[in-house]
Amino acid sequence: MKKILGSNRYLSEWILLLGGLSIVVGVIGFSFYREYVNIGNRERERLATQARVLNKNLGQALEVVDNALIGIRHDLPGWHGTEGGVSQASHRLRAFADAMRVVRTMFVLDADGNMIAASRPELIGQNVSYRPYFSEARAHPNPDILYVTPPLKTVLGAWVMNVVRVIQGPEGQFAGVIVAGLDPEGLREQLGAVVYHKDMWAAIAHSDGLQVVMEPNRPGQDGLNLAQPGSIFSRHMASGQVSQVLEGTSVATGENRLMALHTIINPSVPMDKPLVVAVGRNIEALYVEWYAQLWLTGGLLILLVGGSLPALAYVQQRRRSADVIKAQADAALAQSECFMRSLINIIPGMVGYWTKDLRSTFANDAYLDWFGKTQEQMNGIHLHDLMGQELFKENDSYICAVMAGKHQSFERTLVKADGSIGYTWTHYIPDFMNGQVQGFFVLVSDVTELKKSEAALRESRRFLQDLIEHSGTLIFAKDKEGRYLLINQMYERLTGHHRDQVLGRTDFEIYSGEDALIFTENDKFVIESMKTRRYEELLGAHHFLTTKFPLLDADGNVSGVCGISADITEQKELQKKMEWLANTDALTRLVNRRRFHELADLEISRARRFIHSLSVLMLDIDNFKSINDTYGHDVGDKVIAYIGDMCRNELRDIDIAGRLGGEEFAILLPDTSPETALQVAERLRHEIENYEMEFSGGAVLKFTVSIGCVSSTDLSLDVEQLLKRADQCLYEAKKSGRNRVVV
Ligand code: GH3
Ligand code: MG
Ligand code: MG
Repeated sequence: MKKILGSNRYLSEWILLLGGLSIVVGVIGFSFYREYVNIGNRERERLATQARVLNKNLGQALEVVDNALIGIRHDLPGWHGTEGGVSQASHRLRAFADAMRVVRTMFVLDADGNMIAASRPELIGQNVSYRPYFSEARAHPNPDILYVTPPLKTVLGAWVMNVVRVIQGPEGQFAGVIVAGLDPEGLREQLGAVVYHKDMWAAIAHSDGLQVVMEPNRPGQDGLNLAQPGSIFSRHMASGQVSQVLEGTSVATGENRLMALHTIINPSVPMDKPLVVAVGRNIEALYVEWYAQLWLTGGLLILLVGGSLPALAYVQQRRRSADVIKAQADAALAQSECFMRSLINIIPGMVGYWTKDLRSTFANDAYLDWFGKTQEQMNGIHLHDLMGQELFKENDSYICAVMAGKHQSFERTLVKADGSIGYTWTHYIPDFMNGQVQGFFVLVSDVTELKKSEAALRESRRFLQDLIEHSGTLIFAKDKEGRYLLINQMYERLTGHHRDQVLGRTDFEIYSGEDALIFTENDKFVIESMKTRRYEELLGAHHFLTTKFPLLDADGNVSGVCGISADITEQKELQKKMEWLANTDALTRLVNRRRFHELADLEISRARRFIHSLSVLMLDIDNFKSINDTYGHDVGDKVIAYIGDMCRNELRDIDIAGRLGGEEFAILLPDTSPETALQVAERLRHEIENYEMEFSGGAVLKFTVSIGCVSSTDLSLDVEQLLKRADQCLYEAKKSGRNRVVV
């Protein structure tokens, strides 16, 4: 399309140039043509005028000559009759000839052709009857006609033309003629008066065709016969017109001439044959200046045409090359613009440019999308129209500031074209040129998603914080150096330390060295192994079950340790209590049979290890059935409980006393010889025997026990075997009367 337009332009330039040149050539040609015609017309006019002047002057001159001839003819009879009349006539003729410039000689001829009077005396007496002017007049004598004779060569060699009047005798017979010879020089003077240019000449010819004189004089011209077929003269004569202007080749000079011809007719002079005057100019000479102008102008035109055509071709060629370069540059620019636009469109943000009169000249796709505009709607839009009154007012201060050359950055909540709320981070960047702000760039990042995720993050962090803060478990986090980063309320509550005292400090700065050492050792293991571990940790009265796991940074490196501690103090107490309950007889608070076996096993093992002796007592309340029966079970229980108390009071801490069942007890005495064991058994038996259990009514209950006593020295026996032997001894004691010790 562009190329077609381009070639059209070139073509139209050619058309314009050629058209212009044609017009110039046309106008100049036309003006030259007009000038040519004008020159011709002007010259015709002038030549015709000059011919008219000649006609008039020569007509008048002929009339004067004719009048002179008539006057002399009239006076002739008087001169004939008087003495010396002839010489008087000659004198008169001379006076006339001298007075008239056009007359050379005047003379009178008698009927025989003898010259009887003459303006020049030497001519008198000559007979010129042979001369045509005489013979012609004599042949057709008419006194009322002025005979104009064709020019003839005189005896003196000059060409003259005579005008002749016939003289009649008293009876009307032919009596001679009176002749005026016209003076070629005088005629030339007449002709010279109308010659106004050097290439011009004027001539007089006799109507028979012989040229009389020509001015300027040229040799061989006088007496020339012009009446050639097709000659200008012949054409004039044939036309029958009095005056006309003709063009053609002159017979006289052979030149191409423009000629004004005029037949001399004077009504006052009745001539037998008229004279014709011609005034002519050389046509070539006439147009010399015109041709010079034509050649000069033509030359200039050729120069103009010859210069302008190659010049236009050259200029177009140059422009074509420039067009190609420009087209390439345009294409490169368009490509780069396209690339830049694509690049700017890829940018996840709005990019725009506003001129200093706040008109948009650039907006990327994101910008258009945000405001719901097309590229066409956006082009040249005013910022106010795009933003609306409210937003424009809000941004007014930023716009003023950026126009003052200050970079602006601000956050904004905006309602998008689709009605949703969006958040933006906006930059207004001034565009300077020569220190003047030309407009400003707008860079707007849509941070809606960022804001949303920030809010979500804040919410989830708050949620997490709440969760941590209000968790029923103690939670803490430390960096790799063991400094606390975070603790929750439960931490504060259970440890009694406020977070101000904890955060940024290490366990060594907060707790006793022993506790701190355990904590940091555990932390260290988790950090180094990068494994989750559970520890039971004790802090003051609190027992904690702590899960410790490594804290990892974004690169997966350990940055610290986090702990979640459950307070298991109560469980621990309960566990202890359960264990106690499981191992203890509730009535006597001595260990039960199972526990007794366990402890006894341990003691036997130890005795074997240290090669100590060890003794076992088996104790049974005598006749207990009857106590129950007599005093009731409650009293029986009290008796049993008393045995327990007694064991605790009488025995060493290291001795193990257990209720094996009913009213049967076993006592293990570590590191005790048989003798000592016997003593202990006797002491117990004695104590019980002497004890009096009082009741509320003042009654007293007394009871006894039987005891079997065995000691192990080889230490090969186990608990069961020892107890069995002790039981055998007990059986012996019962059998042998009760309230005794049997070894
Ligand atoms: P001996 O002198 O032979 O031992 O006679 P005894 O009556 O003590 O006989 P025995 O050992 O066979 O009887 C034990 C009785 O103890 C049987 C049972 O009713 C009673 N008894 C067992 N356990 C308890 C208890 O926990 N409380 C009370 N009050 N009586 C118990
Ligand atoms: Mg018993
Ligand atoms: Mg008993």
